[in-house]
Formats: sequence, C-alpha cells, structure tokens
Amino acid sequence: MRIFSRLLAVVGGLRWYNSEAHKRKKLIILGTGWAGYSLLKHVNKKLFDVVVVSPRNHFLFTPLLASTTVGTLEFRSIIEPIRNHGFRDERDFHLSRAVGLDKQKRIISCQSELDSTRQYDLFYDRLVIAVGALSNTFGVPGVEKYAFFLKEIADAQKIRNRILVNVELATQPGVPEDERSRLLHFVVVGGGPTGVEFSAEFYDFLKQDIARLYPGERDMVKVTLIEANQILSSFDIKLRRYAEGKIKQRSQMKLLRGSVVEVKQNSIKLKDGTELPCGLVVWSTGVAPRMFTETIGVEKDDREQIVVDEYLRSVSDRKKCIYAIGDCAYVKNSPLPCTAQVAERQGRYLAKALSQEDPPKFHFKHFGMLAYIGEYKALAETPVAKSRGFTSWVLWRSAYTTRLGSWRLRMQVPLDWIKTFFYGRDTSRF
Ligand SMILES: Cc1cc2nc3c(=O)[nH]c(=O)nc-3n(C[C@H](O)[C@H](O)[C@H](O)COP(=O)(O)OP(=O)(O)OC[C@H]3O[C@@H](n4cnc5c(N)ncnc54)[C@H](O)[C@@H]3O)c2cc1C
Repeated sequence: MRIFSRLLAVVGGLRWYNSEAHKRKKLIILGTGWAGYSLLKHVNKKLFDVVVVSPRNHFLFTPLLASTTVGTLEFRSIIEPIRNHGFRDERDFHLSRAVGLDKQKRIISCQSELDSTRQYDLFYDRLVIAVGALSNTFGVPGVEKYAFFLKEIADAQKIRNRILVNVELATQPGVPEDERSRLLHFVVVGGGPTGVEFSAEFYDFLKQDIARLYPGERDMVKVTLIEANQILSSFDIKLRRYAEGKIKQRSQMKLLRGSVVEVKQNSIKLKDGTELPCGLVVWSTGVAPRMFTETIGVEKDDREQIVVDEYLRSVSDRKKCIYAIGDCAYVKNSPLPCTAQVAERQGRYLAKALSQEDPPKFHFKHFGMLAYIGEYKALAETPVAKSRGFTSWVLWRSAYTTRLGSWRLRMQVPLDWIKTFFYGRDTSRF
C-alpha cells in the first residue's frame, strides 16, 4: 500500500514537472556579455526555459581588460565561466554564434563556433539579442590587417605577446638602432576611456617593470596616444584637463592630435602626411555593428543598431517577442551611451520585465564614470561629485572590485594586484 502511494506521488510529481515544463516559454539569449550575462543571472528560470547562444562561454569584465595586456592582472582573473550560472540542462548553452533570424517562424539559425560545418536552427518564444558591437575601423586602410583591437581576452593576449616579443627583440644583438626604436614605439589610436586606460597601464608597466628588467631599453620605449578631438570627451572639462596635464608631464608618453589615414605593417600614417614608425598599434575608436546585427531584417538606426522601444522590444517585430539590449541596441527617442553600465542595467530590467504582465518602461539612471590614467591616479565623475588623483584611484579599484561578477573574481583580482605590487608583472612569453 505504501509503495503504491509512493508510486502515485512520483507519477503526480512527474506530471506536475511536465506540465510546468510545458508552460514555460523558451527564452533565447544571444550573447554572454554585460547585457546577456546580467539577464541570464536575474531572469526567473521557473518561468522560462533559458537557452544561451554565444561564441564565448564566459563573461568578460571589460573595464579591467586593459590591465591584462601588460600583466597587472591575469586573463582568467576577469572572466567568469557561463556554465557556473545554473542551466536546467547542459544543452541549454550553445558555444555557437547566431547567423540568421526568421521572424515569421520564430527561428534563430546558429553556427557552431567549434565546427563551422555544423549549422542548426532553434525555436524561440522570446528572443533577446545582446550580441554587442565591434570596434569601428572607419574604413581606414590597414586597420583590420595590422592594428590590434581590445575587445576580448584573445585580443589582450595578442597585445601582451606583441609587447613582450618587441622588447625581447630589441635586446638581441645586431638589431640596428632605428629598428630598436621602432620596435619600442607603441601607438594607441583613440582617446576614449579604453585608449587612455590601455596607455596608462602600458606606462605603469614601462616605469615599474621594463625599467627594472630591461634597463638598456627603458629610455627608448615610448607610447603615443593619437586622438583627433578631445581625450576622455565624456568627462567634465576640468577632469579632462587634469588627465591631459598628467600625460603631458610624462617624458615617454606623447599625446598627439591628428587623424590616422593608414596603418601599415611597421608604421602609422597621419592626415598631415607624417609617418610614425612603430612596433604596435592598438585601435580603440568607437563601435560598429556585428555582421549578425547588420544582416537581420529588423529596423536599425543609421549606426546599424537595432531600434527598440522603451520596453526594449524591437520596433519592427509585430509579435513583440524580440528584444535587443546593450551595445547592439538603440532606444528610440532616448539614446544611451554604449557602456557596460547601460548594458548591465538593461539586462537586469528585462529579467524583471519578461515576467510581468504590464512592465514599467525602462529608465536609465547614470551612476557616474571612472577612468584610470596611470601612476595610481584616476578620474571619477558621479552625479554628486567629481574627483581625481590618488583618492579616485582608490575609488576606481574599490568600485570595480565590488562590480566583478562573482566572489571568485572578487578574491582573484585583489590577489593579482597585491602580487604585481610586490613582485612586478610576469613577463614570460609562451
Ligand atoms: C577594453 C574595454 C573597456 C571598457 N571599459 C568600460 C568601463 O570602464 N565602463 C563601462 O561602462 N563600459 C566599458 N566598456 C564598454 C562595455 O564593455 C560595453 O559597453 C559592454 O561590453 C556592452 O555589453 P554588451 O553585452 O552589449 O556587449 P558585449 O559585452 O560585447 O557582449 C557581446 C556578447 O555577444 C556575443 N556575440 C557576438 N556575436 C554573436 C552572435 N552572432 N551570436 C551570439 N552571440 C554573439 C559575444 O561573444 C559576447 O559574449 C569597455 C569596453 C572595452 C572593450
């Protein structure tokens, strides 16, 4: 009798499970960046069968990416494996990229990132496009071929390797003086926060480690930051001037106003005809659409971002089941900057809105901006105060430590900082 009632309970439980599963809608999230990751973490998984498609199986904490290019932080210290975030089934994460969209049939076409011959379709009830954006080359010749971007961990790895290769090469016998000078000239194009922070990290590396490990080369190393307009243009003018002043005081760092017209294998050409020999060009100027965003049949603005309404739904999807968030989206009548802060907040909002019958409109409240400018100094601009220098640097480090995606990273990042402070950066090449 007891066995019989237990069996009944199990069957009843299974029936309940199946009916719940049946009721759950299929939510597909494209991308594991700030927007997609934030949505994945906060969405109610009792209401949705969540499936994630992304060519990257980790979340990347981009604000600290520049620190990994010189070894202030290690690569794995700023990434969080996506599978740590509770998938109902291991097949609910696809290491693939979305390559097509059929709005009528509600199907997304995917291509495996591991085997490009493997293509398949997935059906969705709700689709959230959070594929981010690429760096904008503005069609400048040679950028794609010779410049380095700083978007992903793999980019940071390539930059770090190139820096180490150039410094090692410059120490080898028989390398002429002008070639050594070229190898040790590092150029950054774009004076936004990413370009400035990379230059700052590089400058710290130069002063703290290259000077110690390569004393014969240290005076030859130079970094040039090229910007056509103002550096850090989103910051308050006083903070901007402070940053410019600090950069100008540095003998081995130069701020150059100019437009780049061509990147060559061993040099960079400016509009006024100047050609600067260099050993590395890091390109960091604005955002451009990804191919997926460009090719899908939804309304886009003139920068090819997907136009969404105040509920972050694509304006051209009559079924109201396609959403776009983060760098790939443009909120109609309320344009927002392409930042992690916006993307994260949109993901969080959508996680809530998707489970509400009548959700409120998305509203963005700006919390402020931070930028590292080197030598333990930063800029901080919040709605209530503006500050700069060492105290802002303390704020910069504390703010980012608390914003890291998990406790593992919150432990790892400070440990790397301590290690770098006491023992210097790791210059091994492999
Ligand atoms: C070096 C650097 C430093 C930055 N610092 C700051 C900062 O300090 N503060 C700040 O607010 N912002 C900062 N930003 C900007 C911020 O990182 C971006 O605004 C933010 O990453 C946008 O989030 P997202 O989710 O839209 O895109 P992303 O974070 O770029 O994520 C896009 C995701 O989509 C995936 N994807 C790409 N193509 C496809 C496809 N076809 N199908 C499926 N998935 C796809 C990608 O693999 C990735 O997982 C920085 C950016 C960089 C590069």
